[in-house]
Amino acid sequence: MPENSAPRTYQVRTFGCQMNVHDSERMSGLLEDAGLVPATEELADVIVFNTCAVRENADNKLYGHLGQLRPVKEKNPGMQIAVGGCLAQKDRETILQKAPWVDAVFGTHNVGALPALLERARHNATAELEILESLEVFPSTLPTKRDSVYSGWVSISVGCNNTCTFCIVPSLRGKERDRRPGEILAEIQALVDDGAIEVTLLGQNVNSYGVEFGDRQAFSKLLRACGDIEGLERVRFTSPHPAAFTDDVIAAMAETPNVMPQLHMPLQSGSDKVLKDMRRSYRSTRFLGILDKVRERIPDAAISTDIIVGFPGETEEDFQATLDVVEKSRFATAFTFQYSKRPGTPAAELEGQLPKAVVQERYERLIALQDRIAAEENAKQVGREVEILVAAQSGRKSDQTHRLSGRAKDQRLVHFSVPAGAETPRPGDLVTVTITEAAPFHLIADPRDASEYRRRRSRAGDAWDRAQADSCGVPSAGTAGTVPGKGVLLGMPKLPTPVR
Ligand code: SF4
Repeated sequence: MPENSAPRTYQVRTFGCQMNVHDSERMSGLLEDAGLVPATEELADVIVFNTCAVRENADNKLYGHLGQLRPVKEKNPGMQIAVGGCLAQKDRETILQKAPWVDAVFGTHNVGALPALLERARHNATAELEILESLEVFPSTLPTKRDSVYSGWVSISVGCNNTCTFCIVPSLRGKERDRRPGEILAEIQALVDDGAIEVTLLGQNVNSYGVEFGDRQAFSKLLRACGDIEGLERVRFTSPHPAAFTDDVIAAMAETPNVMPQLHMPLQSGSDKVLKDMRRSYRSTRFLGILDKVRERIPDAAISTDIIVGFPGETEEDFQATLDVVEKSRFATAFTFQYSKRPGTPAAELEGQLPKAVVQERYERLIALQDRIAAEENAKQVGREVEILVAAQSGRKSDQTHRLSGRAKDQRLVHFSVPAGAETPRPGDLVTVTITEAAPFHLIADPRDASEYRRRRSRAGDAWDRAQADSCGVPSAGTAGTVPGKGVLLGMPKLPTPVR
């Protein structure tokens, strides 16, 4: 970079699952380590696509985005475009053949190579392609730029040893690789030291954690060890697999106070025949049995799920079995998907692919059922006192209603107002209120006066203050040059004014 020139800007565009969101935090961290800064405008000097191969048409969408950037790049010759993630791992050189204006292509196993590939592409004026077949460095050892100061993601494993026939993950992310517990706990401690009060343990199949180093109870031990980390208030994890969900995990959840009463348990189908065709090794009875055991030990647990509608060969009877399990499961939320062929997966080759109209009609019935259940379950929350971890506010809704938002311990979304005379919380602070209204996808708490509202300042709120001050170039509290008593106020963004 020439002297005195402004630093190059970057933008990471993320598609797909939480694993990708977390990988994108690493890409941002790597680019910032290399001296780039986040772009504040639409156009950045470096644009990275972190792609997903799970959805049909994911490739068409990517090439559409890349096509839009072609004329932009022609006008801005210094601009660089990189493509990473699952689709890059799968399509490799095809990306460079179809979009030769791309500068770098990297896979899911070598996220850490991104800055070097961009630099090499710039220096050599050629496109760089680097895909590894397996992981060389565990991605969590790479620098990360977290999206949130109050919560963080921690990878405990990557890859998956299962072979679900609809899933591309095993071929793109490889066999399960587990991090050692000491390394995971050290990363959690570092996040907590940095102000986080919530962590989510992340893996394609978290409860098989330990398979690589031969400890079947490693996941429950890890949850219990999280309970010993001082200052860590909320521990979550995603995603477990019903087949390997053992009683020791339920016991650890119930007996570790900072493990939250929330569980994401992917059902996929309620039909045993479809589960068999999906190569999911549990059956509906086992699935429902897990939910019973969880609710017996953790009565207020909010359970969410993933369901695929219209898997090849799914009959009306099979679909009815899914509706029956959904009715019995009383999910707080369900992520519902219409089956679509994913090239490279065994299910894409199966006979009995269903017409779109049939899938759509079943999907709508499932949504209607789940929306009713979600509304009924949320209605039971009215009158309950909940503690909310206040989120960074965004979106129009909060501007219009003047309510702030956050998540209850069970991960339910709560919009709440701050009564007259009460202190407005910072993102990362904790607020205790009583639920006054319910809708299928959120809850509302409008305390009548300050006596119905409690705010707890948290270390995460302090970290938010510091991050805001630092991002404005203002020294934060506790750093040299702080104005006594006022150090963190300058440059603070205004939170929406609460209803008075
Ligand atoms: S458990 Fe199945 S769906 Fe989940 S990542 Fe592994 S193969 Fe894919």
